[in-house]
Amino acid sequence: MYCAPMSSLRVVVWGENVHEQRHPKVAAVYPRGMHEAIAEAIREGAPEASVETATLQEPEHGLSAERLARTDVLTWWGHMAHGEVADAVVDRIQQRVLEGMGLIVLHSGHYAKIFRRLLGTTASLQWREAGERERLWVCNPGHPIAAGLGPYFELPQEEMYGEPFVIPTPDEQVFLSWFEGGEVFRSGCTWRRGNGKIFYFRPGHETYPTYHDANVRRVLANAARWAAPQGRWTDVHLSPNAKTHPEPIRGAAGG
Ligand code: ZN
Repeated sequence: MYCAPMSSLRVVVWGENVHEQRHPKVAAVYPRGMHEAIAEAIREGAPEASVETATLQEPEHGLSAERLARTDVLTWWGHMAHGEVADAVVDRIQQRVLEGMGLIVLHSGHYAKIFRRLLGTTASLQWREAGERERLWVCNPGHPIAAGLGPYFELPQEEMYGEPFVIPTPDEQVFLSWFEGGEVFRSGCTWRRGNGKIFYFRPGHETYPTYHDANVRRVLANAARWAAPQGRWTDVHLSPNAKTHPEPIRGAAGG
């Protein structure tokens, strides 16, 4: 009997899925939800991946411990309902990142509980919604997340995010954005926390067709591949048999 090999890259695309339900303008751009557009981009650019979706409205937001245990990379888009994400789910995502699960945080996900928890800063920034042109410069052309891109790419209309972006200094700077209004922003940043890789990617305001853009879709697929766990290593602190540090990691910030 032939048994299909387990996919080498198991991705869960998490979507808050609120704007799509409430705002016809957003539903018109993303009729199947933003999470479906993001998932489709990763399936297209990384065909070896098995890509599923999860949303806020599902039990445990679609992120049970069992499901997270078999997830290699989680992507996160949220905006208006960050406060509705259960702390118990945030705790378990944090633990999985420390164990090695990759996390890709998109656009307004900069204020997600899990992003601020892992980074240990407020992640605040300047913003203006005026449909401005964004030019994303590739500042690290050899980085796997930038594979296949030119020196820069543009989005004709996006929300502006500007500095200061209150984050720990990134381990790697992959993209830097310039906006029509003159602002700049660190729009593609990586960090490691424990054994896990984190990538923040700025574009993706819900009223613009950003996740239909070919360059953005390429970045999403490249990032999913890059964020995959490498090697097997478990921090003794995270082991169920850990004796030296019995206190849970809940609320721990930074790495
Ligand atoms: Zn936005």
